[in-house]
Amino acid sequence: METKDAMETRDAIEILRSLKEKGIRFTPQRQAILEYLLATDTHPTAEEIYRQVKEKFPGVSLGTVYNTLNMLKENNFLLELDCGEMSARFDGNAENHYHAVCRQCGKVVDFHTDLLQLDTLASASTGFSIETHRLVFYGLCGQCRMIH
Ligand SMILES: [Zn+2]
Ligand SMILES: [Zn+2]
Repeated sequence: METKDAMETRDAIEILRSLKEKGIRFTPQRQAILEYLLATDTHPTAEEIYRQVKEKFPGVSLGTVYNTLNMLKENNFLLELDCGEMSARFDGNAENHYHAVCRQCGKVVDFHTDLLQLDTLASASTGFSIETHRLVFYGLCGQCRMIH
């Protein structure tokens, strides 16, 4: 848990500062939720975030986790992923990137590539001004491929 490097810490401070300028104040619980999201690349669900933060802040509620996630999402500091499961997953990396989801174990892995020309193609074909797109890859991860 305590393996955050200097860059991740600075990111959290920057996000907190820019939210503060908008008049949004952070409690230590909310800060812990943000820091956990920035430090992990597992794309956790709200319940998983709740379980982790609760170890450090036993008083935190699932409602606080949801409120904090919604607020961060509204301010474009996180992505909410729909991976076709019951619960949404959350990604502290709000940069546009893609995900591969393992249909066996549910692992979600980041995939960085530049497909921005897709927006241009979609725009030319539909006449829309395209703001964003979603694209998820489904299959079996390396570990699950070994078992099957
Ligand atoms: Zn897998
Ligand atoms: Zn991601």
